[in-house]
Amino acid sequence: AETLHIVGGGMAGAEAAWQAAQAGVYVVIHEMRPQTGTFAHRTGHLAEMVCSNSFRSDDDEQNAVGLLHWEMRQAGGLIMEMADANRLPAGGALAVDRDGFAQAVTARLVSHPRISVEVSEITDLPEDGRWIFATGPLTSGALAEAIRTATGTDALAFFDAIAPIVYADSVDMTKAWFQSRYDKGETEEERTAYLNCPMDRAQYEAFIDALLAAEKTAFHEGETAGYFDGCLPIEVMAERGRETLRHGPMKPVGLTDPHAPEVKPHAIVQLRRDNALGTLYNIVGFQTKMKYGAQADVFRMIPGLEEARFARLGGIHRNTFLNAPTLLDAQLRLKSRPHIRFAGQITGVEGYVESAAMGLLAGRLAAAEIAGCALPEVPAVTAIGALLTHITGGAEAKTFQPMNVNFGLFPPVEGLKGGRRGRRDRYKAYTDRAKAAWTAWLSAARLDAA
Ligand code: FAD
Repeated sequence: AETLHIVGGGMAGAEAAWQAAQAGVYVVIHEMRPQTGTFAHRTGHLAEMVCSNSFRSDDDEQNAVGLLHWEMRQAGGLIMEMADANRLPAGGALAVDRDGFAQAVTARLVSHPRISVEVSEITDLPEDGRWIFATGPLTSGALAEAIRTATGTDALAFFDAIAPIVYADSVDMTKAWFQSRYDKGETEEERTAYLNCPMDRAQYEAFIDALLAAEKTAFHEGETAGYFDGCLPIEVMAERGRETLRHGPMKPVGLTDPHAPEVKPHAIVQLRRDNALGTLYNIVGFQTKMKYGAQADVFRMIPGLEEARFARLGGIHRNTFLNAPTLLDAQLRLKSRPHIRFAGQITGVEGYVESAAMGLLAGRLAAAEIAGCALPEVPAVTAIGALLTHITGGAEAKTFQPMNVNFGLFPPVEGLKGGRRGRRDRYKAYTDRAKAAWTAWLSAARLDAA
């Protein structure tokens, strides 16, 4: 029988191996630790959590990551089973005992009759066989080079530069307006490509003061070694001079505020549409190392964003990831070499849970291929499907940056009221719809029945 090779035994590789082996496939996991380490991993265990020990919210009715937990549990996911078995008290969040968790995942995998683990660093993309690469944000240098050679220099990034992303429906349109600089673009899609928020002088000065004063996070030790090559955080630009941003990402030219056409704004913050659905906008040029709490306070000083809800906050981290929208097909296969799949954080999702979810999918898709059957398309209304759809097509390829799961990635549920109450109903409608679709998909996609 055909063997499935999985490179990287992290969150994604571990889950992919489990799913494929449970479906009857023989799996070899190639993991470089403990022989070769990274700056963040500490052990030789599979599925090591490198930083926080939280899987975030476990609320499967009101929270998109909680929904992802639910979907993975329904699919018999190993990562969720072991997280549940090693749960620590943490309110509504799912926190785990990291050593107990990683040991339990490792023990389950090494004792599986159809899984073997080889300690070795893979440094090339193989010409044949069936492979899943799940080497994560800290993919080893030699392999990253090989991927770059195969896909093109611009197709693989070594750092993310995440500007904060807001939900479009939380922007105050009595202050903000849609317009592209110098009115470039005529179609409806082009017209809504940018949202603009004006600032007068006093607002700008207060904003610069807040940026300079905000608490920042530092890079981890070893994180920037030999890599970091620019892409300045917004607060570093502000440190270079109080006018720098007004001549950079906040320049007030080529735009007219329809709410006050006679006033020339002192500075303008632009937001760019982040997904085809038009539900998410990122603040252009606002990648930042400010702490999360500080970010929300500072960015809500921007006129029009006083009540903004953030689908994700900004950040800059060492993070090896592909330009998935251009490189991967809807089954996570490299378009140019379809015998190779990618899974986990390297596909442009971010977080333990999201990475494990993409591993779950890759493992099932590869197992189906080996069994010679095609799985039905993953419904885009599920959390797993929404992530998959985003990275393989929904996101703008030119400005692609890693993404957490959030309701902005889901096709909207129409006909529900706004406001806080309306939001609760809407999220419940999203999660109900997702659960029904995921349940149906799982029963239609049963490999053991095939
Ligand atoms: P990983 O879990 O990193 O697994 C990849 C595996 O591949 C590793 O075991 C690695 O040793 C192996 N590998 C790499 N190259 C090769 C090779 N050439 N050959 C063989 N094996 C190889 N996410 C959160 O949700 N919360 C956090 O607090 C958080 N903090 C983070 C802090 C840091 C410093 C970093 C770098 C990441 C952080 N992340 C966090 C992201 C988190 O690492 C990922 O979401 C998750 O671990 C990704 O899963 P993965 O399986 O894609 O990669």
